[in-house]
Amino acid sequence: MELRIIADIETVSAAETEELGRLIGEALERGAFIALEGDLGGGKTTFTRGLARGLGIASNVTSPTFQLVREYEGRIALFHFDFYRLETASELVDLDIGYCLGAGVVVAEWADRFPPPESDSLLRLRFDWAGESRRRIRLEACPRAAAALEKSDSLRLRLSAPPGGEQ
Ligand code: ADP
Ligand code: MG
Repeated sequence: MELRIIADIETVSAAETEELGRLIGEALERGAFIALEGDLGGGKTTFTRGLARGLGIASNVTSPTFQLVREYEGRIALFHFDFYRLETASELVDLDIGYCLGAGVVVAEWADRFPPPESDSLLRLRFDWAGESRRRIRLEACPRAAAALEKSDSLRLRLSAPPGGEQ
């Protein structure tokens, strides 16, 4: 699926990364696949916490390190995968990722380990360490996901803010 760069964002705290997740979660539709890439400590789980908030999920998101997938109920359900835990892409079929995409939004940490599943709507975020509490986040989206994100004024404002949140 064709992805284009939507924004290069900098956050200066975990709270800002979580807030970015919240704004994106609010704008998402069922069927979206969100691929999270970047090293340990980059902020993938932190972002996912915000995403859950934006999807109207009340319970707390924890890292799915000891579970292959976790499901959260909300305005839209969230299925949280960690591809680091999987040996082969065929495990995604066993875990019925296709069902998950029909039932809600799917977010995957270490998503670059396997090709993305078939989905209507694909987002990719790459987290790069830029200092103790600073991260660079590249956001890419397919046309459909980009259109969904563009509908959110608050997200558009955030994405056009200067780096480091110095508004
Ligand atoms: P990952 O899931 O990519 O391994 P986590 O979200 O679990 O990363 O961890 C990120 C760590 O970095 C947390 O301890 C968080 O508090 C810290 N942190 C510091 N600054 C930021 C930032 N700007 N964005 C995200 N996390 C940050
Ligand atoms: Mg994590």
